[in-house]
Amino acid sequence: MTIIQMSENLANKIAAGEVVERPASVVKELVENSIDANSTWIRIDIVEAGLQQIKIRDNGDGMSEEDSTKAFLRHATSKIRNETDLFHVKTLGFRGEALASIASVSRLTIKTSQGDAASTFLSLEGGKLLEKKKSDARKGTEITVEDLFFNTPARLKYMKSLHTELGHITDLLNRLALSHPEIRFEATHNGKGLFRTAGTGDVLQVISQIYGMNIAKKMLRIKHETLDFSIEGYIAKPEVTRASRAYVSTIINGRYIRSAALNQAVIRAYHTLLPIGRSPIVVLSIKMDPILVDVNVHPTKLEVRFSKDRELFTAIEETIKQKFREITLIPEMERKVKPKEHSIQHVINFDKPIVDKESESRGWQSKEQEITFNPTVQEIRDPETLSSENVEKYTTSEKEAEQSSSPIPEIKELQQEVDEVQPGEEAKQRVPTMYPIGQLQGTYILAQNENGLYMIDQHAAQERIKYEFFKGKLGKPINESQELLIPMTFEFSKPETIFIEQHKESFEKVGLFFEAFGNQTYVIRSHPNWFPKGFEEEIIREMVEQIMNEEKLNIESIREEAAILMSCKRSIKANHYLKQEEMFRLLEDLRTTTDPFTCPHGRPIIVHFSTYELEKMFKRVM
Ligand code: ADP
Ligand code: MG
Repeated sequence: MTIIQMSENLANKIAAGEVVERPASVVKELVENSIDANSTWIRIDIVEAGLQQIKIRDNGDGMSEEDSTKAFLRHATSKIRNETDLFHVKTLGFRGEALASIASVSRLTIKTSQGDAASTFLSLEGGKLLEKKKSDARKGTEITVEDLFFNTPARLKYMKSLHTELGHITDLLNRLALSHPEIRFEATHNGKGLFRTAGTGDVLQVISQIYGMNIAKKMLRIKHETLDFSIEGYIAKPEVTRASRAYVSTIINGRYIRSAALNQAVIRAYHTLLPIGRSPIVVLSIKMDPILVDVNVHPTKLEVRFSKDRELFTAIEETIKQKFREITLIPEMERKVKPKEHSIQHVINFDKPIVDKESESRGWQSKEQEITFNPTVQEIRDPETLSSENVEKYTTSEKEAEQSSSPIPEIKELQQEVDEVQPGEEAKQRVPTMYPIGQLQGTYILAQNENGLYMIDQHAAQERIKYEFFKGKLGKPINESQELLIPMTFEFSKPETIFIEQHKESFEKVGLFFEAFGNQTYVIRSHPNWFPKGFEEEIIREMVEQIMNEEKLNIESIREEAAILMSCKRSIKANHYLKQEEMFRLLEDLRTTTDPFTCPHGRPIIVHFSTYELEKMFKRVM
C-alpha cells in the first residue's frame, strides 16, 4: 500500500457526503449564500423535489469574474480571513465548502454579476469546468443545479420519496423565511407556487404567509432581554398545538438552528398547558454576541454550542411562562381596568436591544415598527383566551407542580392491588367501592372505605370515563359518509395543501373529500359518519397532520385522538361543586373503566392513603 494525496475533486466529493446530504441541503447552502450576499429578493425554483433541478436567483452583491471561479475551490470563502474571524462569524457561511461540494455531485451553472459589468457564466459537471463566457449584467447571482448525485449513485439510492424530500425543502424554506422576514422569498415546485413572503420585515406576516392567517391570529408576542441575550418572537396560545416539533423554529443571530435542549426549554415553559405528545407553534429569534455561540460544530451548521446555555434556556423558559401569566391574569384585571387604558398597556414597544449593534443580522431587528396584528386587547381578551377553562387549566397546572414535590401519592399501592386481580375478573374489582366524604377545593373528591382514604381528581376521573365511553362508541369503524347541510371551509398552510393534494386518494378512502377552493382553502361537503359532533374541524386537521408526519392515515389513532379530545372538552372542570350522589356516581363509573388510575393524558386520578399509613402518620402504630 502506498499513500497518495487525494485529488481536489475526490476530496470535494467526500466533503459533499457531509454538506450535501439531500436536495434540501443544497437549497439551504445556496439560499444562505444569497442571504450572505445581502439579497433582498430570493427566488427558488424546484423541479421534482430538487433531484431534477434546483434554481436559486438573487439580487445580491454578485461576484467578480475572478471570484466566481475561485468560489468553486475547496475552502474558498470571502467571509472569514483568520482565526479571530472564526469566533465572530456574522454570516451564515464561512467554511467555504458548499459550492465546491455541490458542484462535485451535480451539473451546475452559475451566472453572476456585481452589476457594473457583464456577468460571468460558468458551467461545471462533477466539479470540472466545462465552459466560461460573458453574459448580461443583471446584478446578482443565479445558480442552477441539475441532476443532483448523478455521479454518486450510492447517495441517490438513499433518497426517500419525492414528497419526503419536498417536505424537507419546504420545512427548510419556511424557517429561512422566518429567520429573514426582511427578504422577499418566492418559491415554486414543478412550476406551481409553494409560498411567497412579502419581505417587509414583519415576522408575524411571514407566519401568516406560511402557516395561515388563523394561526397568526393566535400568536402572542414575547420579548425579553438579559445582559447576554435578546429574545423575541411569537408563541402560539396553548390551545393551538401540533403533533410534530416542526413548528418550533429557533433562530440564533439570524441563523435557523436545531437544538433539542432549546426546544426542551420551550416545551417546559408550556408545561401542562400542552396535551401529552403535542407540540406548540413557536418562532424565537435570539440575538447574542457571536463569541457566545460556536457554529463550527457540524458541517451543516444546524447544530451549535452555547457558552452560557443554562442562562439562555432559563431566560427562554421564563419569558414564555411570564407571557402565560400575563394572559391568564387578565380576567381579574378586566373588572378593574377600563378597556381603553387596557389597550394602551398592550401596545407593543420594540425597545432597543442591548446586544451590540454589529452582531445583529438583518431582519428581526427591534426597531420601532408597525406590526400587522398587534395582540391588542381585542386579541388578548377574546373569549377563548379568557374562558375560565383556560384560567383553570393554568391554576390546576400550578397546583400540580406544587404537588409533584409532595411525598404522598401512593398509586403504586393501588397498582399492586390491581396486579393481584385474576384475569377474567370484572374490571369493577380494580378499585373497591369508595364512599364520598366530601369535596376539597371544588376539585378533589375525598372518599373512604375499609382500605383507607382516597383523593380523586374529579376532572381527570371524568375524562377517563368519557374517554372510554367515546372510544367504545368510535370503536367500530363504519365508512359511511354524512352529508353536511352547510359545507365547512378550511384554510391550510402551503405545505399542508401539498400533502392534501398528494394524498387525496387516502383521504377519500376514509370518506373525506377535499374540494380545492383556491388560495389554500378547501371545502368539505361530507365527512365520515363516526366524526363526533362539534369536533369535525379538529379531527380533519388531525388527519392532515398525520399525513404530513407519517405519510399515511391510521384511522385507529385518529379515533384515539378524537376520543381524548372529546373526553377532555366535555368533562367537568375543577372548581365545580358536586352533590353527594353525583360524587358517588362518578366514583362508581370510574370503577367500571378499564384503566381507572390515569387520565387519557397520563396524569394520576386517584391518590390513596392506606389505613396503615394514616395510623403511622399519627403514631398510632410504629
Ligand atoms: P461560504 O459560504 O462558506 O463562504 P461557499 O462555498 O458557500 O462558502 O461559497 C463560496 C463563496 O462564494 C462565498 O464566500 C461567496 O463569496 C461566494 N458566493 C457564493 N454564493 C454567492 C451568491 N449567491 N452571491 C454572491 N457571492 C456568492
Ligand atoms: Mg455558503
